[in-house]
Amino acid sequence: MKPAIIKVLDKKNLFINWEDGSESLIDLKILRRLCPCATCASQRDTQSKSFIPVFNERQSTISSIKEIGNYAISISWKDGHNTGIYEFPFLKNLSENL
Ligand SMILES: [Zn+2]
Repeated sequence: MKPAIIKVLDKKNLFINWEDGSESLIDLKILRRLCPCATCASQRDTQSKSFIPVFNERQSTISSIKEIGNYAISISWKDGHNTGIYEFPFLKNLSENL
């Protein structure tokens, strides 16, 4: 499934309106915490399960969103981190399991 509309709401949430009319609202801090890039994934692996990273404002603010093909978006964060590719099924699944 693909998004029809993707936008940032109130600088706090990613809003997605999917093709089928369903909507997702994902907290940007959670989105950043679950960044799927290799660097963040390996960091999460080495942290204990109880560790909850605290992000500063730049780390949880989106500077731009770019569509990758028709399967994902890449997000550039204000702190310069931009290697995370968020595939649509990942986003859909995430919003349904928050
Ligand atoms: Zn990352």
